[in-house]
Amino acid sequence: MTTTLEAPTAVPRQTSSSSNELNAAVMPKLTPQNSDRLAMGLLVIQPSPFCNINCDYCYLPNRTDTRRMDHEVLERVMDKVWDSGLAMAPFSLLWHAGEPLAVPIKWYEKAFEIINRHPKAKEWVIHSVQTNGTLINDKWCDFLNEHQVEVGISIDGPKFIHDHHRKTRKGEGTFDKAMRGMETLKKNNVPFGVVSVISDVSVDHPDEMYDFYREHGITGIGFNIEEVEGANESSSLGESGGLDRIHAFLKQFYLRNKADGFPLNVREFQNAERNILEPGWCSRPDGEYYNQEADPFGMVNVDCFGNFSSFSPELLGQPTEKYGSFSFGNLLSGSLFDATKNEAFQKVLADIEAGNKKCSETCEFFQYCGGASPSNKYYENGTFDSTETHQCRSTVKMPMQIILEDLEDDLGITDRESPLIEMAKPPGV
Ligand code: SF4
Repeated sequence: MTTTLEAPTAVPRQTSSSSNELNAAVMPKLTPQNSDRLAMGLLVIQPSPFCNINCDYCYLPNRTDTRRMDHEVLERVMDKVWDSGLAMAPFSLLWHAGEPLAVPIKWYEKAFEIINRHPKAKEWVIHSVQTNGTLINDKWCDFLNEHQVEVGISIDGPKFIHDHHRKTRKGEGTFDKAMRGMETLKKNNVPFGVVSVISDVSVDHPDEMYDFYREHGITGIGFNIEEVEGANESSSLGESGGLDRIHAFLKQFYLRNKADGFPLNVREFQNAERNILEPGWCSRPDGEYYNQEADPFGMVNVDCFGNFSSFSPELLGQPTEKYGSFSFGNLLSGSLFDATKNEAFQKVLADIEAGNKKCSETCEFFQYCGGASPSNKYYENGTFDSTETHQCRSTVKMPMQIILEDLEDDLGITDRESPLIEMAKPPGV
């Protein structure tokens, strides 16, 4: 998952790790007693695993399962979240992991009433929803406006691109319905951003993609490069062969946007630009980049039965040989901190920290990404204790390189051996 991260308001626990073997043996385990400085920035709740469409690159298992979260389960989940003390400042509550709008508005009316029972809920909870857009109507817009829900809608680009992967179970394209949903949002003044998966179909069409966003008045965009993750066991972009094409796509898109005065806000370039112009904008007090996805309880992901995981949301409900289940407990019978008694949780944490330690020792981008996405490391490299992935090359490294090269071109600097902005190198590199 690619997420725009905000600097935490609470001070997260500092990491310490060396090699994986050593780390697993000596790393102080996370316990409720030594976790007092953790903070939760994102709570993902799955109202139902069901999705009304069937994109061929989807990582979610069980997306034909129509069961939905009982309100009693949600009550218990929220009680445990508040009781944990991890959510004591504004945090995002993302309704996701299935098509959230396939659950009726009535369910959400009750759900929001449950959440808002907490006296600080309206101050602390920033609701957001990630939707395929096909079910949006005026009633949904009224609800989204009333509760100030932030909306992300998944549209992959023009029809010939979108319909290639985003289909119904009957194999029909979903472009027309998704666009109708987007126009309904516009008509009702619901602000939204668009998330587009860049796959083998779109990667060679940066101009058509750019024209599409401009033509439809879309101004906020996030690119998700198609990933090997969960139920999506291979990427149409290949394990490494797509990198040149992705670079060409991003560069051309950037140049088109620049030529027009940057009317489009592209998440990947905005993050890169901020890293360049505002070093430390997302740093912890110790100076390391704060990576919410790698921080225990920085992200908490709860399925419709109350099972929960931490770290990357894509891990929730995924079975693995190496770690067992990524569900670290159930909030009906236990607390969030019960995860710390879970061997798999401690092993995942130790491996994530060992991988990040290696990143910090070997990669000049570490202070701009904090080790990126654990789920990508696991699904691409087979272990969290690893470094570079296809995903970090295309969403962290390439956007920064493209901006830096462009700055150098603007300033007439042609000597790439002596770059204008030299990124701080980790020790020993
Ligand atoms: S190798 Fe990738 S994940 Fe690791 S620090 Fe570098 S950019 Fe980040």
